[in-house]
Amino acid sequence: MYSMPLYRPPSEARSLIVQVTEGCSHNKCRFCYMYKCKQFRLKSREELKEHIVWLKTYYQDPERIFLADGNVLCLKTEKLVELLDYIKNEFPTAKRISSYSGPLDIIRKTDEELKLIRESGLELLYMGVESGSDKVLAMMQKGVNQQQMIEAGQKAVKAGFKFSCMIISGLGGIDYMEEHALESAKVISSINPNYFSLLRLVVEEESELADDIRQGKFHMLTPMQVLDENIMMLENMELKDCVFRANHVSNYVNQAGVLNRDKDMLVERLKKFRDGNNFIPMGSDRL
Ligand code: SF4
Repeated sequence: MYSMPLYRPPSEARSLIVQVTEGCSHNKCRFCYMYKCKQFRLKSREELKEHIVWLKTYYQDPERIFLADGNVLCLKTEKLVELLDYIKNEFPTAKRISSYSGPLDIIRKTDEELKLIRESGLELLYMGVESGSDKVLAMMQKGVNQQQMIEAGQKAVKAGFKFSCMIISGLGGIDYMEEHALESAKVISSINPNYFSLLRLVVEEESELADDIRQGKFHMLTPMQVLDENIMMLENMELKDCVFRANHVSNYVNQAGVLNRDKDMLVERLKKFRDGNNFIPMGSDRL
């Protein structure tokens, strides 16, 4: 059985989800309502084995496996390696195992531990950077600063993981729009992940950020400002062979390419939408 709600990145839509932890150990970000109803906990060895037996009654031969919920890397290295071996044994058809990763969980592991986890089969890590700005990270209570984001990302890349970073467009609001764009470009450039996704801020009614908006403390960007911010962010990124996607249901303009190779084309396309007379924002405010 799964403990609901269950989340996974859009690119893991076809993956078998193995729920290793429940919730998020931080659970304080003002914009996030994902795991607010869950108390964070690690499952015991026995629970994990039972969970995998249950999963096998439905899925025998998955090609991809995603380890949920948040913070799978907070497991002790020895336990995580043991779990990866067990999963590979139970699902020998799986060609890729991936998970979310918290920056502090990555930092707490030594380079050797990360390398061992990578060699044990965890191949792809997703990290929600959200913003590269210290001010925005603090305002959103992310619990991590810019330097820690960079350190975590660089450590994961150095250990050989495929690494995917995500930034939330509009997270600085109007007050920190430029700062959010420039500092996010700096962090992503410093990490140079394999994948970079740009989503747009969609505020859930129950989140603390929704209260901030109602109280006039946070001002959402207009669609045109979102395009301006995206242009500024992309123009200031220096990346090598990074697969870029802004094709989430929330994005106003669907974009895909490789950075920096396609940077000029992506920026020009955004400018065309911004400067044209018939820009109709495509993004949904419901996720
Ligand atoms: S954004 Fe990530 S770290 Fe923050 S509360 Fe949500 S799941 Fe936890």
